[in-house]
Amino acid sequence: MPVEQTRDPLRAAHLLRSGRLVAFPTETVYGLGVDATNGEAVARLFKLKRRPGNNPLIVHLADLEQLHLAARDIPPLAIQLLSALAPGPLTVVVPKSDSIVPSVTAGLSTVGVRIPDHDLARQMLRATGLPIAAPSANRSGRPSATTFKSVLEDFGDELDAILIGDPSRIGLESTVVDCLSNPARVLRPGGVTLEQLRSVNVNVVMAGVSHQPGDNSPGRLHPHYQPRAKVILVETPADIDGSTDAAYLGLNGPPHGQTFGWEMIYPSVQQYAQAFYEALREVDRRGLTTVYCQQVPAGDSNAALADRLRRAAGD
Ligand code: AMP
Ligand code: MG
Repeated sequence: MPVEQTRDPLRAAHLLRSGRLVAFPTETVYGLGVDATNGEAVARLFKLKRRPGNNPLIVHLADLEQLHLAARDIPPLAIQLLSALAPGPLTVVVPKSDSIVPSVTAGLSTVGVRIPDHDLARQMLRATGLPIAAPSANRSGRPSATTFKSVLEDFGDELDAILIGDPSRIGLESTVVDCLSNPARVLRPGGVTLEQLRSVNVNVVMAGVSHQPGDNSPGRLHPHYQPRAKVILVETPADIDGSTDAAYLGLNGPPHGQTFGWEMIYPSVQQYAQAFYEALREVDRRGLTTVYCQQVPAGDSNAALADRLRRAAGD
């Protein structure tokens, strides 16, 4: 069956209520949604994505009123963060409600929940009246999809439907915050910065890198965001030689006389981040074997892109 392509959030909601897998746009990246209370549908999603069963899914909600659909005994600090920063690229990890099937949270007693800042997505979520589990809409390990065409590229006809929207505005995933520890801990840097979290007057720290299960965001133990081409990080393009088999992505252009098979120079870190995953996919479409990516300057506002660059390079 060909994938149903729709622009109607109510149609997408109807399909989700019938246990179907429906990709949808958000401000971070496209999500691959499924009813988080339907164990069979969730099992199909893990299989389709080829996602390891120990990597929990983020549950998406339309608004704060729906929080009880996914979570219980919600810590005040999670409410504080969501009240200030949702809808937005923020996922809070809180105790899970019994209605969320165990496979969604990989057996954990906690669940990551998020309210996307995207009108179409929220209309769809509101109309389902359900908690919708949605990992990024890419095959496990690949760069996330930020356009509906990239979703179709990864899944062909294996999805049930896609709600078509514009390219994702932010282009990198949400910030995941563990709200059960004090101070709260950032498990994954993302669209909300540490400074924004702290502006809410909540005590938050970056979690250290740990390889102990349960000590970290489990998904961070798996390879992620990787194109087929080899990703090499560089500080400045002056450090490398041009090659027509290679691509170059960065903030500064290569020196005169250096030619690459393809190059993209971004005027800001924000635009680099927005375009990053799609650029990695384009490198593969062009059959280039290497992509040199300029690392971004250290700093809180660049943390998410710096992290994804490192992960794409296999670090
Ligand atoms: P993705 O769906 O690919 O954006 O990945 C979701 C991320 O959220 C992964 O890094 C997960 O490990 C993390 N995550 C989801 N639920 C939880 C949870 N209950 N506890 C800790 N991390 C979580
Ligand atoms: Mg992902």
